[in-house]
This record gives sequence, C-alpha cells and structure tokens, in this order.
Amino acid sequence: MGAQMNDVPVSPPWKTKGPRRGRILRRVVAAAGVAVLVLMTASCGYCDPDNRPLPLVGYTNGKLPAALLMTVSANCQAEERAGADLKKLISDAKAARISMVPGECYRDYATQVYWRNYWCNLGKCQMAAVPGTSNHGWGKAADFDDLDFGTAAFAWMEANAWRYGWNHPGWAQQGKPAAEPWHWEWVGDGGTMYGSLGCSTSGSGSSQDQPEEVTDR
Ligand SMILES: [Zn+2]
Repeated sequence: MGAQMNDVPVSPPWKTKGPRRGRILRRVVAAAGVAVLVLMTASCGYCDPDNRPLPLVGYTNGKLPAALLMTVSANCQAEERAGADLKKLISDAKAARISMVPGECYRDYATQVYWRNYWCNLGKCQMAAVPGTSNHGWGKAADFDDLDFGTAAFAWMEANAWRYGWNHPGWAQQGKPAAEPWHWEWVGDGGTMYGSLGCSTSGSGSSQDQPEEVTDR
C-alpha cells in the first residue's frame, strides 16, 4: 500500500492503535480538563472579591453568644462553621509545610470600639471598621500573623483557601489603598453575593453588614 494522504479508512482499526489511542487520550484529557474547570468554577463561585460574609440573623455583631463560637487556636475564636473550615485549612496548609497562624478571628464589640478609637486618634479612621460592622464581629474573618503578599503562604492561600470557604476580599487586595494580605473572610455558606445558595440575606443583622471599604486593623 502506498503512502496515500487520505489512507485512514484503509487501515483496519487494530492496526491504528497508536494514533487511535492518542486521539482517545487527547479527548479524555480534554474532557477531564473541562470537567475540572467547571468543577472549580462551580466550587469557587462564591469566592468573588466582592463577596462578603453573611451576618448571623437574630444576633448582634460583636455580641455573639459563646455557643456560636468555636476555638480554632490560641488566639482565634470563630463562628462554628467558619471555624471548622479554618481548622481544616490550617491543618492542610501544615501538611503542605505552610504555617498559617491566626492572630485574631472573632472580635467583640468592645474590641472593635478600641481599634476604631485607636486609629481615629491617629487620624486614620479608615483603618478600622465602624464598630458593629466588622466581619470579625460575626466570627467570619481571620487575620493571619505574618501573612504578606508575594510569600509562599499567600500563594498557597490564593490557590487553596476557597476550598474551605475562605476568601480574600477585594478591598484588601494588593495595590488597594488599605491592602491587607492578612485579612481573610469566610463565605462558605454563600456569602452576601450568593446568599440564594441556601442562606437568607434578610433579617435583623443585614443592615449592619454594610460593605466595608475600610480595613479593620
Ligand atoms: Zn481583619
């Protein structure tokens, strides 16, 4: 048989194993790639820089009962779902040799007042949330010690935090006037942007969850 340009049909299937397998493999790889992309997009849909944590309906920011909080580590108490996810995040990061140490998570109202006064006295009110509006007051924000842009730890967080419902809000991102690499928020229940995924955005607390264009530390 001569080397014809269009000889594909001439060769019986069992003699075209190589190319066939190659084609099948390429299709499988392509399909898997699409599946992974779709999965990632679906899983990370709520991890949008504009998304913010939902308030806890029926409760007051910074005045959460102890029963709603869990201890994540020495300096970190968090809302129980956020805290459970944070514990997993810290554990998995450690397995990847990344040390994630929360310096503060839940911040009660009195502490929010303290920091607001502290920064306002320095003429930098924008560095602290108005007391009663910080997402730390819902136990759904964490400040990590020594977490900075451009580090391996920050890269790990960018790649993985969303798997645990933790998100880096837009106002805190690099280049923003009040960039805070250490401040991350939990939107594992959908957050304000995707509240329809199963969480009500209505309720007594919602008016207190104004989007913060300020930092909180
Ligand atoms: Zn913070």
